[in-house]
Amino acid sequence: MDKNIVVFNTLTRKKEKFEPLNSAFVGMYVCGPTVYGDPHLGHARPAITFDLIFRYLKHVGYKVRYVRNITDVGHLENDADEGEDKIEKKARLEQLEPMEVAQYYLDRYHKFMDRLNVLRPSIEPRASGHIIEQVEMVKKIIKSGYAYEVNGSIYFDVEKYNKKNNYGKLSGRVLEDLLANTRDLEGQDEKKNPFDFALWKKASPEHIMHWSSPWSEGFPGWHLECSAMSTKYLGEYFDIHGGGMDLLFPHHECEIAQSVAANGKEPVKYWLHNNMITINGQKMGKSLGNFITLEEFFTGNHKSLSQAFSPMTIRFFILQAHYRSTVDFSNEALQAAEKGLKKLMQGIVTLNKIKPSANSDVNIIKLQHDCYDAMNDDFNSPIVISNLFEAVRIINSANDGKEKLTIKDIESLKKLFNDFAYDILGLRDDSLYSGNNSIDGLMELILSLRKNAKENKDFSTSDKIRDELLKIGITLKDTKDGAVWKVE
Ligand code: ZN
Repeated sequence: MDKNIVVFNTLTRKKEKFEPLNSAFVGMYVCGPTVYGDPHLGHARPAITFDLIFRYLKHVGYKVRYVRNITDVGHLENDADEGEDKIEKKARLEQLEPMEVAQYYLDRYHKFMDRLNVLRPSIEPRASGHIIEQVEMVKKIIKSGYAYEVNGSIYFDVEKYNKKNNYGKLSGRVLEDLLANTRDLEGQDEKKNPFDFALWKKASPEHIMHWSSPWSEGFPGWHLECSAMSTKYLGEYFDIHGGGMDLLFPHHECEIAQSVAANGKEPVKYWLHNNMITINGQKMGKSLGNFITLEEFFTGNHKSLSQAFSPMTIRFFILQAHYRSTVDFSNEALQAAEKGLKKLMQGIVTLNKIKPSANSDVNIIKLQHDCYDAMNDDFNSPIVISNLFEAVRIINSANDGKEKLTIKDIESLKKLFNDFAYDILGLRDDSLYSGNNSIDGLMELILSLRKNAKENKDFSTSDKIRDELLKIGITLKDTKDGAVWKVE
């Protein structure tokens, strides 16, 4: 397949032809969730954006190693250096092990991402499982002279780094300006410079999560885990690094500085950033009262929501905007997306009923080309969706007898929907997941097959059925009267 992809590289601020370092393989790293709170819209957008890119790269024939980390060593307030660790705070309040808190929210994250039909990455490394790699990286940075120790904590020396390198090249910020605009931090700050960031922090006595290092019992700085784990799984220089625009500075800027200091080279060829989400034109925030979790969207259980919105409505709505544009959520916009998605899915059903003609007056191949052109142009999903709506218009018109479709046209349309609606955009018919009666019969059949398997002591099949159903959000519970099921 023609791999003619152009991507907007945040580093160079322009569109560039996508040429991976190895022509058949793409290494992609995306900053993943901090597992201390329930998944919300802010999690959905980057997950769906890089899922679209992951799906498309695979569709055109690349082998992709997609690495998305899990931040579970604590994520401190106030730029990762100061404040209280949120996982620990929760653990203390609820008398749990910190890893119990992290596991609970990680499971919740997976469950909701599965419902949004976000594919699991190839590797999901946990920061807590890579302390050794992080300590090794700090040692390298100290050796190169770009870090200093104060009372058992290690800080990155941004000013020194900036003398030979450009701290700010990704975000376009200039260190001198940043310094001029910063008031002196009061108190006993250990850092030489307010923009220095922690590579390793000595743990205070009340800190529950800490590990040994040559400098102190402590824990790694937040920026470090991404540099250490991307290097481990993708190498010192890899193709794509993604994340939300909110991570551009300081997080990604610091990742570049760490890699240059430790490995002597920049880590990433293409930096990709998705834009942010607003709700009724406002930034989403707990203090603004417009903070809506995915569960609240799916159940409609939030004062700002007029109804429940299905996972596919959320996914479709996010994909209706280009990933570099902002997305504004409102009840009206979501209702429109729900209607649009229904129309698209209905078009696919209607397609199966159309009687072919001997000749036709439509050009389906052009629609297919236009969809590929759109995806090749920096993953332009809204243009793909508008082409799919044009396909639906043709289908409805043919169904009304106004336009004609040959057997070949119908096959091409089926392929168009299979490739673009299902495989690349990752849409699916949500009615199956929203308590619609049409799955009752299907579930009855599946449960009777599972019952047979159990009676034949074929437990691997019966377990597989249970596990596969769980993956699509259907849980089974075995009772003495047989299994009962429920859509989560
Ligand atoms: Zn990161």
